[in-house]
Amino acid sequence: NLSLEMSDPIVASLISKELERQQTHLELIASENFTSRAVMEAQGSVLTNKYAEGLPYKRYYGGCQYIDAIEELAIERAKRLFGAAWANVQSHSGAQANFAVFLALLNPGDTILAMDLSHGGHLTHGSPVNVSGKWFNCIHYGVDPKTEEINFDYIRELAHKHRPKLIICGYSAYPRTIHFSHFKSIADEVDAYLLADIAHIAGLVATGLHPSPLPYCDVVTTTTHKTLRGPRGGMILARDSELGKRLDKAVFPGSQGGPLEHIIAAKAVAFCEALQPEFKDYSQQIISNAKMLSKRLIERNIKIVSNGTDNHIVLIDLRSINLTGKVADSLVSGINITANKNTVPFDPESPFITSGLRLGTAALTTRQFNEAAFSEVADIIADRLYNPDNDTIKDKCRERVAELCKSYPLYSFK
Ligand code: PLP
Repeated sequence: NLSLEMSDPIVASLISKELERQQTHLELIASENFTSRAVMEAQGSVLTNKYAEGLPYKRYYGGCQYIDAIEELAIERAKRLFGAAWANVQSHSGAQANFAVFLALLNPGDTILAMDLSHGGHLTHGSPVNVSGKWFNCIHYGVDPKTEEINFDYIRELAHKHRPKLIICGYSAYPRTIHFSHFKSIADEVDAYLLADIAHIAGLVATGLHPSPLPYCDVVTTTTHKTLRGPRGGMILARDSELGKRLDKAVFPGSQGGPLEHIIAAKAVAFCEALQPEFKDYSQQIISNAKMLSKRLIERNIKIVSNGTDNHIVLIDLRSINLTGKVADSLVSGINITANKNTVPFDPESPFITSGLRLGTAALTTRQFNEAAFSEVADIIADRLYNPDNDTIKDKCRERVAELCKSYPLYSFK
């Protein structure tokens, strides 16, 4: 039984390099975070060896007594965290969770109403390249051209015209509060199911810093690895356990095989962390940091979509400084800042070029970055974007990034 380093030094060395990359770069990808050591320990445990098709205490395999206790704990903690009557923690990812919901509620050819990908929606919300767009008739809403926020009059009009069977709210690049109650009244008017995909904002919802969809939506899906700071994975919640039973079947055997019980254990650990009072302070700091990042970039005359943020996302509209997302992404990556190019609403550029740069504050807030640190992050980004051809400024920006990484260390345990 050799250690990884002894048995496969190539993989061990690449993991060690990845650790160093995470420690020495500023992680601003809005969908990423750094899990705790406890979460990673659960993920890297003997639970990876176990098959456990079925649900706790109703398995198709023997030897599940400890697995059952762990999965039951994860389900109970998830329900407590979000105030849900029912939860399934087996979805391998956010995309799998959404697919299971479609399988439970829809038939091929049914109509879905969801946010356009280029306005902040997700691929699984009806993009033509995803099964959701191939098998269903997808109608898309976008944001209001003036406010760059959701316009409920427009969504209501589309809902009455197309009579969708499912309406989806919850996004990948929307920096503003989502008013689930408004979606609920539209869904009721046209007798549609309402799904909230809170993949991005789950941690803010769990701590009460964003309104909860549970009182209003039939089903809620989420990832567990973004603001919720758990392992990479997905989850489905509902306020009604009758619907829950259909959803359970849609996960297994509908669309998945054996659950990843090592990931489910890590989800249980992360949910326990999120139930602690410190997690609310952390989530509040994520929002304060995003507001500072946005404020400072605006002070540097860089346009921010919707002129600010209510959550962890800050979406730069680069047209204000004559850059594309592709160029800006490579400029910041040259100074060890990791972010991603992203479309902005009504983007004239293709999804490969884009006019936006999406930033998020969850990961660096885990490193204890505060508002002062985020003001410096904004200045470093602005200095780099305004001086694409100046190598002296580029070198200085890299040094400033290195200083921040040193002041706010990551994973100092060994
Ligand atoms: N839903 C939304 C709103 C997302 O932003 C994402 C991921 O970015 C997903 C679903 C898909 O999650 P996963 O990558 O775990 O499949």
